[in-house]
Amino acid sequence: MTEDEMIWDLSQLVESTNPTSIQKKLESMVGEAERARDTYHSKIEGLDAKGLLELLEMKDAYTLRFEGVTRYCRLMYSADSTDDVAKQLNDAARRAYMKVGQALAFIDIELGKLLAENPSLVTNPVLAEYKHYLERILRRVPHMLSETEERLIITKDKNGIDAWQMLQGDWLSTKTFDIEIEGETKTLPYGEIIGLYQSPDRDLRKRANQIVYEGLGKDEIIWASAIRAVCEDHLQMSELRKYPTSMTQSLIANDVDKQAIDSLMNTIEKNVGLYQRYLRLKAKLMGLDKLANYDVVAPLPNVPEMDYSWSEARKEAVDAYMGFDEEIGGWVDEMFEKRHIDGQVRKGKRSGAFCASWLAGKSAYILQSFNGRMGDVYTQAHELGHAVHAYLGSRAQKPSNLEVGSCIAETGSIFGELLLTERLLSKAKTKEEKQAILANILDEFGMAAFQVSARVFFEQSMYDAIKRGEFLDGETVAKLWVAARDKIYGDSVDWLGAMKWEWTMKPHYYMANYRFYNYPYVFAQLFVFALYRLYKEQGESFVLKLKRLLATGSSKSPRELGAELGFVITDETFWEKGMKQAEEFIDLLEETL
Ligand SMILES: [Zn+2]
Repeated sequence: MTEDEMIWDLSQLVESTNPTSIQKKLESMVGEAERARDTYHSKIEGLDAKGLLELLEMKDAYTLRFEGVTRYCRLMYSADSTDDVAKQLNDAARRAYMKVGQALAFIDIELGKLLAENPSLVTNPVLAEYKHYLERILRRVPHMLSETEERLIITKDKNGIDAWQMLQGDWLSTKTFDIEIEGETKTLPYGEIIGLYQSPDRDLRKRANQIVYEGLGKDEIIWASAIRAVCEDHLQMSELRKYPTSMTQSLIANDVDKQAIDSLMNTIEKNVGLYQRYLRLKAKLMGLDKLANYDVVAPLPNVPEMDYSWSEARKEAVDAYMGFDEEIGGWVDEMFEKRHIDGQVRKGKRSGAFCASWLAGKSAYILQSFNGRMGDVYTQAHELGHAVHAYLGSRAQKPSNLEVGSCIAETGSIFGELLLTERLLSKAKTKEEKQAILANILDEFGMAAFQVSARVFFEQSMYDAIKRGEFLDGETVAKLWVAARDKIYGDSVDWLGAMKWEWTMKPHYYMANYRFYNYPYVFAQLFVFALYRLYKEQGESFVLKLKRLLATGSSKSPRELGAELGFVITDETFWEKGMKQAEEFIDLLEETL
């Protein structure tokens, strides 16, 4: 394995990587937006179906033309936030993006007015391809503000909540932590020390958690200031936009309704006992009376050596997807072959992992910090599932139909994790290997379905606290987090005191205009577990159904997508299907005892 293979090649995104030519391209992106404004401003309300189709097609073509350059700047920066050129280009892209947003803010507003006046346009056959796209705009119409207000909001966000978000991210990714490993004190960046949470050495895991969270807690004023500003901004904006609840904006963005999410969260609350059953089982497998927080997602002891090189990980991922469908397997291999994945661990790199689709290239880019653990192989399979979603979507849909809400956006990724599980289980030679694999997928399930639910309760409780007039200082936020966490875990886990600072490092809480990012993960987890059950029942004939679902992008709502597979997502019995699959994995694990 060469290090180069683990570093992505972003040059494919642009015609030239010369910073001056990148800047020029950004300028022409702004210029074109301004010209579109000159052409269409105040004229959208008078468009007929054909005219509207032209506008939407123009907008999609524009997205494809400039997607590469903005991606390039953003990805370069997330790969190394300490690099001067990356910093400059990222900043230039942000400024250009803001200008474009300002120049084109009128489109959504005028489009909203046009549709409010002529709702029949939504079902006009000329606009058939954009039907659901238009329906979604119609749903946002009652919450839109005037053009001047929308432009002002974009301006205040840049140095307001966007800046708080950036501060949180930069503060975290440039932090280092001193930890003693095998008698030697090492200074590790955040992205690297969190790799130790998965260490087989229990004491090392404990110390890594202790050091990180104690360290993060020392900066509580920074995290609390940021989270408070972002949350208060959201409540004020919700009021201004007349959202009935603090979740409404997210429900609309995710194309779901309260009924579906209520039935989802009720199912979670009813099943905390199932998760706690798994946690007690895991304690038994670890030879403990009770798990500590640093054991919850730790590997089991006695796990056979399961470290993966980059090329071994590649083989597992490609084979797992290949076993499901050859076309998909080929795309996964292409992601490695074309070096669209950045796996190298280094300081200044954004922590965590993500997949950014590249629609114009009908492909995607993935960032992760690959430490060679089974968890990293799963992360890779997960992000590759997002890439597969992008491959299918970009081949079937226009960009307007690829604004996939997070409930569905996780479908390819989690399904990919299950495919990997299936492959690894089929190859497992010993009881211990089987246990390690099952524990891994159940850890993932527990995190996504249950731990993330704690975050839903936590986020809600912050808004409730603000509404009650409470001031969210670090300790108050910590108290809210602990209360939400305990609702899920009950007394099944012992927590280090410093874990009350767990909320400080989650970038999502600080993301501008991205409130309630969390329940879609819960949604997706149970949705896909249910889908996986169907795959097991239907075999081959299910493959096409899943590919069709992924290729649909956002051209249909999750409710419709569920209905096409015979599910009613507002019904708790649907969500229980996903729980059933989890229970089956837990039973399998128990049988190994
Ligand atoms: Zn994901």
